[in-house]
Amino acid sequence: MEQAEQKFFDIDPRLEQLGEKAQQECAQAFARVEEIAEYNSRKVLAAFIHHGVSESHFAGTTGYGYDDRGRETLEAVMAEITGSEDALMRHNFVSGTHTLTTALFGVLRPGDVLLSITGLPYDTIQPVIGINGENCGSLKEFGIEYQQVDLLPDGTPDLGAIAQAVRGEKVKVAYIQRSRGYSLRPSINMTVMEQLIQTVRQNNPKAIIMVDNCYGIFTEKVEPTQLGADLIIGSLIKNAGGGIARTGGYIAGRRDLIEQCAYRLTTPGQGKEVGCTLGELRNMFLGLFLAPNVVCCAVKTAIFAAALFGGLGYRVNPPYDERRTDIIQSIELGSERGMVAFCKGVQRGAPVDSFVVPEPWEMPGYESKVIMAAGAFHLGASIELSADGPIREPYAVWMQGGLTYFTGKMGMLLAAQSMLEEGVLSLEN
Ligand SMILES: *Cc1c(COP(=O)(O)O)cnc(C)c1O
Repeated sequence: MEQAEQKFFDIDPRLEQLGEKAQQECAQAFARVEEIAEYNSRKVLAAFIHHGVSESHFAGTTGYGYDDRGRETLEAVMAEITGSEDALMRHNFVSGTHTLTTALFGVLRPGDVLLSITGLPYDTIQPVIGINGENCGSLKEFGIEYQQVDLLPDGTPDLGAIAQAVRGEKVKVAYIQRSRGYSLRPSINMTVMEQLIQTVRQNNPKAIIMVDNCYGIFTEKVEPTQLGADLIIGSLIKNAGGGIARTGGYIAGRRDLIEQCAYRLTTPGQGKEVGCTLGELRNMFLGLFLAPNVVCCAVKTAIFAAALFGGLGYRVNPPYDERRTDIIQSIELGSERGMVAFCKGVQRGAPVDSFVVPEPWEMPGYESKVIMAAGAFHLGASIELSADGPIREPYAVWMQGGLTYFTGKMGMLLAAQSMLEEGVLSLEN
């Protein structure tokens, strides 16, 4: 006789049932996401084959890293995948913020204007621009002016105001943030992205269109560069590293601009020709190869979370059946206790550090306490299942990631179970 199946986790049978119902509701949304992932997997595979990726490319270099064939091949593959002329893809980028900083300082010069056309940028970019922080070498301190076109009250870009603002003579960079990050505005999908790019082009043909592509790559079939953006920038401990790259970032786009970014990353004159890869190339190639599939799992986890918690009566953003352009899901839990219980449950289901109990904590730069659940193979990697949020109205958590859908789904069930056990979720009605 076959051995009886084990349960492994104690989930209330009613919750398990609601989970199965939520999963069934997601069937169509899952099918769309899987179709995108299949397309992107073929795109990536074709680029690997086209560039003749081989074992010898994984060897890596030391010291200056001259003539690193693996590095050059990886960057050529990334350029092809993103429909770009060239790319920088390096473990030397310490974070997404560092990669974006390199691109901004790479192309902007004193007297230029940086114009954000999607409202206030992500928190960590603000000190880079000089919106806050002093004497830290911001763009502002180097004579680069910042201007911003606010989003409309519904959180969408203000095309009319953008058309006006971008005509400014000194506007050098039009900056777009694709993912909403930790806000409740809609993310910029590739239909809206195309409108933004056309609006900029029509009114200022010379402006450099730069896109913060963090959390976005591989969630749709095209990237902003294929719609006319000049540069896209992202992190390798998010989507593009596939959960395997240990650190790093990428910039892809126009060849002359990539060269400028490389001069900023290394030195004027040396640019892309230096930067040893140590032992990181195999992980970066493998991560990129897996990325479309891992992103698919993360998006499915987000969709499942939206269906499950939406079904339990919480406000979720976006809803489970809405088109996605990033891996972020917010859930408004309505109270501090709800947020804490949710994060405790997510942490309990992490493959690493499951025994840690998250608590709200003061964080530098935040007005209110913040709670975070993360148990990842790479410190801070948010392509791995994680959840966090500031303890204030509307008491929302932002969750993202999930290296596999099955473990991501488990994490969401454990989050709901934890809320049930803490008495903040009731299933009687
Ligand atoms: C994560 C993120 C960043 C910054 O990346 P880090 O790796 O955390 O420094 C910038 N912009 C957006 C939209 C992001 O999601």
